Amino acid sequence: MSVSPALADALAQAVGDPSRVATGDSHLDLHASDITFHRPHRPDVVVYPLTTGEVAAVLAVAAEFRAPVTPFGAGSSLEGHVIPIAGGISLDLTRMDRILSVSPADLTATVQAGVTRSALERATGDHGLFFPVDPGADATLGGMAATNAAGTTTVRYGKMRANVLACQAVLPGGRIVRTGSSAPKTSAGYDLLGLLIGSEGTLAVITELTLRLQGLPEHAVALRVSFGDVEAAARAATTIVAAGTGVTRVELLDAWTIAAINAHRGTDLPPVPTLLVEAAGGETAVASDIESIHEVAAAEAAIDVVVVRDPTERARLWAARHASAYASAAAAPGKRSRSTDICVPLSELAAAVSFARAEVERRGLVAGIVGHAGDGNVHLSLHVDPDDPDELASSDELVDLLVTDALARGGTCTGEHGIGLGKVAALELEHGDLVPLMRGIKTLFDPHGIMNPGKVLRLPESDTFVSPRGSLGTTTA
Ligand SMILES: Cc1cc2nc3c(=O)[nH]c(=O)nc-3n(C[C@H](O)[C@H](O)[C@H](O)COP(=O)(O)OP(=O)(O)OC[C@H]3O[C@@H](n4cnc5c(N)ncnc54)[C@H](O)[C@@H]3O)c2cc1C
Repeated sequence: MSVSPALADALAQAVGDPSRVATGDSHLDLHASDITFHRPHRPDVVVYPLTTGEVAAVLAVAAEFRAPVTPFGAGSSLEGHVIPIAGGISLDLTRMDRILSVSPADLTATVQAGVTRSALERATGDHGLFFPVDPGADATLGGMAATNAAGTTTVRYGKMRANVLACQAVLPGGRIVRTGSSAPKTSAGYDLLGLLIGSEGTLAVITELTLRLQGLPEHAVALRVSFGDVEAAARAATTIVAAGTGVTRVELLDAWTIAAINAHRGTDLPPVPTLLVEAAGGETAVASDIESIHEVAAAEAAIDVVVVRDPTERARLWAARHASAYASAAAAPGKRSRSTDICVPLSELAAAVSFARAEVERRGLVAGIVGHAGDGNVHLSLHVDPDDPDELASSDELVDLLVTDALARGGTCTGEHGIGLGKVAALELEHGDLVPLMRGIKTLFDPHGIMNPGKVLRLPESDTFVSPRGSLGTTTA
């Protein structure tokens, strides 16, 4: 399908610059897919706004033409979120990349939605401050808010919802709204800010964010703890958190993942189940945390504890951790990534990890286990060939099983990646009774159903377009 001349003209007028309304193959292809196994689908047109006013004008045009709109940040989400399965407009916010203010006195920064995490880190570092949500990928703050992203430091600082104080957003039709405030807290009415965070571009387009900053810790030390089995590593992770340490990161990597990282990055980490832990703060607190971690490691018969104090070595270790997704992908050439994202109560983590490992082995699959273990969050890095129906069906079955297991343990189908296309059925399994309420909210915000259709909630049956296949039989092929 191609964009009609009337829609193209109206969009060019909305942004005041025809060169920011693109229909060329490279633009459409770049906005058709993510890095996962979900099948690509092109938008009809890509629009690059620079201001909130331009976003409002685009959404007014979209409402008039009933054109679907899929907001696009860095495209690093992992559940088919940015794939415009209904075609229409891919609204690329990456050129809205201005840091509007950094206020050390208020411990806040206000940014346009397209600012990346690393750009903000550079700007705040000059003030001895940092923004603590780090999903590993260099995502945009708008995309991170829209997915309620988390990351390696969530164990200490929380997810996006805990770290966004206010936002400006454009509602379908073009109305500009602000929610939240610059105050450290508020109890003013229904939490619409919390609703927009995690709404995955299905309710509104976020254009500006006011974010909570933290002071850079005085000291930071990383610990690499090796274990004989992955369950012991998981138990140690939760004990470290339960012990009341102030650790900022507690990451679990299984032996397969460590071997993949070594092959990909040329590191020589011992290829055994490993916890990477970071203790940060004042010197005395850090020393006390290191002592506690040694004690927990000894109780779980750890093979080795290496304390990494040198900042360069520490950065190298965390860079290796953040490369784990790419290392896993490189170990499975020709396949596409499919990452599970279950999250369970801390007391259930070791059992959930054990269950996942046993299921992978029973099926003879190749997959690594990585987890933000301090948060009870486990990722299984599966690699599948989307054109192999048997392999896809087998991975569907495994993902189903892991979700069912997590729910039975009192957990959730997704700790951080969100629903997108891939977990629509899992959301129904987890919150089926609430889905009608969610659909009511969607209709209130988006009466024409044009905001990122088919994500979070199943498409209404009346929709005629064919969507790519998601997991758990989410959508029709
Ligand atoms: C290697 C790797 C590691 C990762 N690790 C983590 C992790 O540890 N934790 C984690 O939470 N995630 C992780 N992710 C997933 C990803 O980084 C997050 O989902 C991220 O928050 C998405 O940001 P983005 O800018 O790429 O958004 P996109 O992928 O472009 O968009 C994500 C969703 O938000 C919507 N959206 C984007 N911008 C806006 C906006 N301004 N307004 C409204 N809606 C918008 C889109 O329509 C889409 O539905 C990882 C990804 C990779 C590739």
